[in-house]
Amino acid sequence: MSNHTNQQVREQFDHVMVPNYAPSSMVPDRGLGSRVWDVEGKEYIDLTAGIAVCALGHCHPELVAALTQQANKFWHLSNVFTNEPAIELAETLCKLTFADRVFFANSGGEANEAALKLARKSASTNFSAEKCEIISFVNSFHGRTFFTVSVGGQAKYTEGFGPLPEGITHVEYNNIDALKAAISPRTCAVIMEPIMAEGGIITAQPEFVKAVRQLCDANEALLIFDEVQTGMGRTGDLYAYQGFAVTPDIMTSAKALGNGFPISAMLSTEKIAAAFAVGSHGSTYGGNPIACVVAKKAVEIISDPQTLQGVKNAREKILAGLEKINNQYNIFSEFRGLGLLIGCALTEQWQGKAKQFLNASIEEGLMLLMAGPDVIRIAPSLLISDEDIALGLERFSRAIDSVLKS
Ligand SMILES: *Cc1c(COP(=O)(O)O)cnc(C)c1O
Repeated sequence: MSNHTNQQVREQFDHVMVPNYAPSSMVPDRGLGSRVWDVEGKEYIDLTAGIAVCALGHCHPELVAALTQQANKFWHLSNVFTNEPAIELAETLCKLTFADRVFFANSGGEANEAALKLARKSASTNFSAEKCEIISFVNSFHGRTFFTVSVGGQAKYTEGFGPLPEGITHVEYNNIDALKAAISPRTCAVIMEPIMAEGGIITAQPEFVKAVRQLCDANEALLIFDEVQTGMGRTGDLYAYQGFAVTPDIMTSAKALGNGFPISAMLSTEKIAAAFAVGSHGSTYGGNPIACVVAKKAVEIISDPQTLQGVKNAREKILAGLEKINNQYNIFSEFRGLGLLIGCALTEQWQGKAKQFLNASIEEGLMLLMAGPDVIRIAPSLLISDEDIALGLERFSRAIDSVLKS
């Protein structure tokens, strides 16, 4: 336990940090599995997993072992040298997905940056410089680098940062006709999240995903799946594209890939990847050996059919509990998403109030997320126990009760 109170540490935050974040009043001190303790020793059930990052919970012993073993060998040598942990992780990912080439980076935004750059490079190499248009979806989220934030479909994140990069078109999600009207031979890529996560947990309709694939093929455009949040078992498949049975040309993975150790990957086919010739793109830390050994172990555990089945079972338990809560309080209009990415959409009466429920949950010893102001997001460890689910829902019910009485 730290020598400081939650309030003392939280106040210090405002004195030393750039004011772009507004963190919770609770200051975490340590975590284990799906439980977290704050600096005052209070316990919480964690249904956030570090924003869908710690898919195997906090301090999973096999990940700790992989990390410490590599920490005693070497930490970093750069991409000037061949890196065996990176090769082994790439082999594992290629074996388990459509991909046959991998580029490693350190965050979701960077993996998407690489994907978008590869799509442009591939089009200019194989077609012409005019084939440069990128189509993405309104309300989508792809990261905060300048290119990815411009491709993302939320104007509030680009306001004040202009002039923005050109050649980007936004169309409505789950609207086949809108995409049909926008796509053309000038389009080099369509980028989409299988579930728009930050945009409110909106799941793509299966027929929409199939239509996107067909429209890309008809226009020789690449299909990029941003699986930064939906990947690594979150939906009950190792990657969500496998559940939709639609294969992208480029896919990105981050968040849970390293379970909290920063790493991301861009995956593609040999043919497309060829456009990234020597010197065309790079990253100092990309493929960091500690990150790679942790990620390889995480991929092995998550791709185990037992883990993936556990995701489906846990979803059913959580949804059953949420239905029960809603029968009593009637604050949710629907539950969305797939697997353990669950969006609880608030009814008309509670629009814009997600934060109130999050704050009340902290008081009750429960960590939750929002996906915009109208949706409470639940994204726990894929290994969460029945006991922790039950306890978490009990605390959620108490938190809702306190908001309704306030
Ligand atoms: C979180 C997220 C990103 C950005 O990842 P960072 O690691 O924050 O750069 C991109 N796309 C999706 C779908 C995400 O959920």
